[in-house]
Amino acid sequence: MGTSVRPNGGRQPAAERGGALPALSPGQRAALRLIRHDAPLTRGALAQRIGLSASQVSRIIGDLRGLGLVTVEDRAAASGGRPSELLALARDGRFALGLDIAGGGLAGVAIDLHGEIVTRRASRLPGATARDPALAAMAAMVGALMTEVGATPERVLGVGVGLPAVVDPEAGVIVDWSETPGRSEIWAGFALRAALCERLPWARVDIDDCARMLALAEARSGQAVGTSDFLLVVADSGIGAATVIDGQPYRGANGLAGEIGHVSLSGEDALCACGKRGCLEAVASTTALLRQAATWQIDPEPTIASLIAAGDAGEARAAALLADAGARIGEVLATALNLLFPRLVVVGGALAESTVFLDALGAAAAERAHPSAAAMARVVPSALGMWGGALGAATVALDALFAPQPERRTAQWRG
Ligand SMILES: [Zn+2]
Repeated sequence: MGTSVRPNGGRQPAAERGGALPALSPGQRAALRLIRHDAPLTRGALAQRIGLSASQVSRIIGDLRGLGLVTVEDRAAASGGRPSELLALARDGRFALGLDIAGGGLAGVAIDLHGEIVTRRASRLPGATARDPALAAMAAMVGALMTEVGATPERVLGVGVGLPAVVDPEAGVIVDWSETPGRSEIWAGFALRAALCERLPWARVDIDDCARMLALAEARSGQAVGTSDFLLVVADSGIGAATVIDGQPYRGANGLAGEIGHVSLSGEDALCACGKRGCLEAVASTTALLRQAATWQIDPEPTIASLIAAGDAGEARAAALLADAGARIGEVLATALNLLFPRLVVVGGALAESTVFLDALGAAAAERAHPSAAAMARVVPSALGMWGGALGAATVALDALFAPQPERRTAQWRG
């Protein structure tokens, strides 16, 4: 696919912008960014860094405290003189919520202003073949997270949603969702952000590919902290990738980059939900592996957890299936390594829990990539487990607070 759909001509209706906070001035945003990165800061240091007078900074800090975004703590002066006041982000003044969809599951987290998870929940995502039950489940997850942290709509900065789909984050539209058979027919071209805003009219909503959401979480608090060039591969019911170059996600010409799951493999004929044959996703996704495992007639409804447990314990057929999936993904990954020479490859999704799978993926990538590209890239599993995608989605919602241009949906990762 790859066609960008912009039903609103790029302008967002007021309901899609969210109204939890009044519009912040550029000075307020600049102060928030500095406090976020360098807290604790004194007022004097902030005034110097931001280039404003002491009285202007006092007014800004007064406003930000009034909005519950900043706290001021006294620090006793060592010499016994006047204590200095230290500025920091208020930890639980506001919350951001993140949802992540994988297979038939929905994971949700609430994070505080420091970006740390306050609460998390998981539920089933119904409605592979109808939109309303899935939208209702997403809205219900938002409501449950808010209840758990005791947040009113005014205290929620926004809601981020990551999907195993081709997503246009600027338009808020699902371009294609072929990871589960039947989904694309009802979701392709659907304006998910607008639909969620109808159910959550007070919220700013951001949507994106779950691989980019997880990549952001790994960059902030996972395996990729301090690494400016890395690849993230999601191996779950969908197979996708996010590319981070010089600390920023690479989105491609139309914002949709990363569809390694739809590289067609020679010698494979399985029909993919995208309409092509032999796609990596049709061969090596959890859906494909479970379909295969079900034919063994050991367990009529095998789960990916039971398959991984069996494979990693040495059960021959399960191990071979997981190793083959890893090898096929590693084969495609080798091309990306030669093209980009990343320092790190982080593998997320349910299959990253399997040692057999990860070892086979790393070995195939190393065998097929140029030796110097293979030597450069460490292959590691995600550090964030099943909550990483939701954490990244919530971080997108949180980052909007600090962005110089809050209306821009594909905000920069570095303030
Ligand atoms: Zn495909």
